[in-house]
Amino acid sequence: MRSLTKETKVTLLYIALAFLFSVAIRMIWFYQFLDYNPFWFNGQFMINTNDGYYWAEGARDILNGFNHQEFDLSPVDSAASQVSAFFAYILPFSFESVILFMPIFLGSLIVIPIILIAKSIDNLEMGFIAALLASIAHSYYNRTMIGYYDTDMLNIVLPMFLLWSIIWAIRTNQDKYLLITAVDILIYRWWYPQSYSLESAFFSLILLYTLLFDRKNSYNYKLLAIMMFAMVGFDGYIRAIFVLIAFFLYKREQYDKYVHYILALSIVLFFVSGGFNPIWSQLKGYVFKDALMMGEEGLKLHFYSVMQTVREAGHIPFNVFADRISGHVITFVASVAGYIYLSYKHRVMLFGVPLIGLGFLAYVGGLRFTIYAVPVLAFGVAFLITEIARFMPTKRLKFLSMTAFTLLILTPNIAHIQEYKVPTVFNTDEVKVLDMLKSRASREDYVIAWWDYGYPIRYYSDVKTLIDGGKHAGDVNFPVSFMLTNPQDVSAKLARLDVEYSEEKFKFQKENEKMIRDKNLTIFSNIEEMTKKYGFSDTNDFLLSLEGDIELPKKTRDIYFYLPYRMIDIYPTVEMFSNLDLMNGNMKNRSFFYATKQFKQEENILNLSQGIVVDLKEMIVKINENKVPIKRVVQSAYDKNMKFTKNVQLVNQNGELNLIFMSSYNTFLLVDEKTYNSLYIQLSVLQEYDRMLFEEVILTPHAKVYKLKN
Ligand code: MN
Repeated sequence: MRSLTKETKVTLLYIALAFLFSVAIRMIWFYQFLDYNPFWFNGQFMINTNDGYYWAEGARDILNGFNHQEFDLSPVDSAASQVSAFFAYILPFSFESVILFMPIFLGSLIVIPIILIAKSIDNLEMGFIAALLASIAHSYYNRTMIGYYDTDMLNIVLPMFLLWSIIWAIRTNQDKYLLITAVDILIYRWWYPQSYSLESAFFSLILLYTLLFDRKNSYNYKLLAIMMFAMVGFDGYIRAIFVLIAFFLYKREQYDKYVHYILALSIVLFFVSGGFNPIWSQLKGYVFKDALMMGEEGLKLHFYSVMQTVREAGHIPFNVFADRISGHVITFVASVAGYIYLSYKHRVMLFGVPLIGLGFLAYVGGLRFTIYAVPVLAFGVAFLITEIARFMPTKRLKFLSMTAFTLLILTPNIAHIQEYKVPTVFNTDEVKVLDMLKSRASREDYVIAWWDYGYPIRYYSDVKTLIDGGKHAGDVNFPVSFMLTNPQDVSAKLARLDVEYSEEKFKFQKENEKMIRDKNLTIFSNIEEMTKKYGFSDTNDFLLSLEGDIELPKKTRDIYFYLPYRMIDIYPTVEMFSNLDLMNGNMKNRSFFYATKQFKQEENILNLSQGIVVDLKEMIVKINENKVPIKRVVQSAYDKNMKFTKNVQLVNQNGELNLIFMSSYNTFLLVDEKTYNSLYIQLSVLQEYDRMLFEEVILTPHAKVYKLKN
């Protein structure tokens, strides 16, 4: 065996050390919560990101031999699920352990391209320091920490490998980097289909570089063409074949004169295959937004959109932005300055600009983008540190100054990690309920719950859901919101309708896929289909008709309601999605809903904080200056046998608000009549259900599950 050069040895050593550092820091959370039982299930910590349960569902079904139900939305075809299933299959650990630790090990791979990029400009120390910083900087840590099981674990690693191979390709013009670059794009696209924006940015930058500085170099055209073949709009394996053919041609000198034709061909293929479509539809979305809305036929319903809540979030303060990228404002400023200086010294580092650009999109697109800027900007401050060290007179001082500055930039990030104690998505008691439900419900049954709980329900109970972390647009949220916040009888009917209509729609879309595409058929919301089917032209009339007797579709499966106690925190948000007139989009008056654990009672005066005071003698609520009479006073409790008890007192037939004291939760609720009669309050808070409509399945203090009788 050839012995390794000293440089290679040092490179490997730095990679190993940085990788171990990144892994070790990610174990802080693990040890912080080691004794905290509510985070454990099945002998392991649970994961802490909602979306993770989506990939977990797919991986679970793959491991069971691709055994899943039609239309259950299980992502068995996704790269994340397939990679997880692969690891779970070959490794001797439980599935729970594999998905818990995957982000640690995959996310820490970021140190490899960072150090290899630094190697290309002969500054391994810079690479080592940048790797230490980038692997644990706020936003990168937050989204690759232990249990943060999502595509993020490779979403920065893969473009960093791409940057590495582009830099080496441009610097060395070696053939192997043509293939590596293309293969990296293939993998990146497979892992994360939205990767086309970053790939296109890299492509454009190389094109610009070629046209401006290196027009005569045929290698650049080869690189551009092979990248383009990897990006065209065909399936992955077809793109892989194109890439291999191109590489084969490049290896033979007699084809060198066709380099430009090959590039032209790749660009034609890109447009012909619809490779531009995702970019085009995004542009269309920005430019013609209103036109698109008006162009559709049908009832032109207006739904409440999740974006409405996001948009109100407003701008990001600069220091938050800087902290998320570098851990500290000073580090961030040094990083930007250092990156400019580094690019001046080594032009090739400018190929990192697309990543920085995407990171800076955070200012308009939201915090989640900052993560992209982390590794490239880490080079900036790391370069400054190595430059300062160069001026140190002795080796010892060089080492000391590098160590001191590195510790300085790492410290705020480590402090952040120690404070960042994110909880698991669910707690053990909630998951026990879902686990029990798994043995009760059939895999074709539907469980109705707010979208936040969709993925975990599907993973733990192996059932279907109407909405989840990826399917939660205004039109699909509307019926679920309506069911949870309206009386039991209308909710029960709408539940049957929405479930059967959802299945019918899936079937229709599958059987008529070609026709829908060719005729550009509009798929209407379930609520619109129901309205028309029952002979109405106004959804308000249809919803009103649910209060009477209507003929429901044939029952094809059972329907469950999953009602966790934790939904109390989001009840007002849940209500928003159905508290509007779909015909004109006008929001209705919001229901009165107030929940608090902060209260104080002195004699007859109960102070619920936030300016809300209850006079228990007069039975009125004072909200700032207004006095509102109380209708009912309710107290619920679990006795020592954990049996649920409640006491309902009607104090004033004409009262407007209901005061509920959930003594076992130390929580007061103050709700109006509409909320009081809602399915959620009746079934979850009061355990008061219509025996004709529902039967109880699992009732615990943490979550309640009812089954629809019909
Ligand atoms: Mn399934």
